[in-house]
Amino acid sequence: MDTLEHIRQQVRADNYEFSLHAERERENEHILVAEIEQSVASGEMLEDYQRIRGRERETAMKCSFCDGELEERLVQHEYRWEGKLFVFEDVPARVCRQCGEKYFDATVVKAMERAVLGQMRPKCVLKVPVYTYADVAAA
Ligand SMILES: [Zn+2]
Repeated sequence: MDTLEHIRQQVRADNYEFSLHAERERENEHILVAEIEQSVASGEMLEDYQRIRGRERETAMKCSFCDGELEERLVQHEYRWEGKLFVFEDVPARVCRQCGEKYFDATVVKAMERAVLGQMRPKCVLKVPVYTYADVAAA
């Protein structure tokens, strides 16, 4: 099986994850998870990193930025969408012991996206103080 077909199968099965870095990019660019999945389903591969393919099983357990060990943890995630901030508590993630990067399963990102897009009623709503740095520095 070629690499692209393998990736498509994994995406169809929700067997993939978002690094925190990728998730922040997705939120900033207002890209829906469905749009990413659609582009994987119909797009073409621009780069094929042989190195990663050979280490597939191993990399799933290690940080793709620094090779550090990952541990399962519940984390807080600040989800930003269209200028709004949403806080998710106790989100299951794999966290790098070395650099702190977080990895979320696709199903986890989809659940947060459903809550935000579906305007699900939150547990509570916080008021957050906001400062402009120049005002703070001048004080
Ligand atoms: Zn790391």
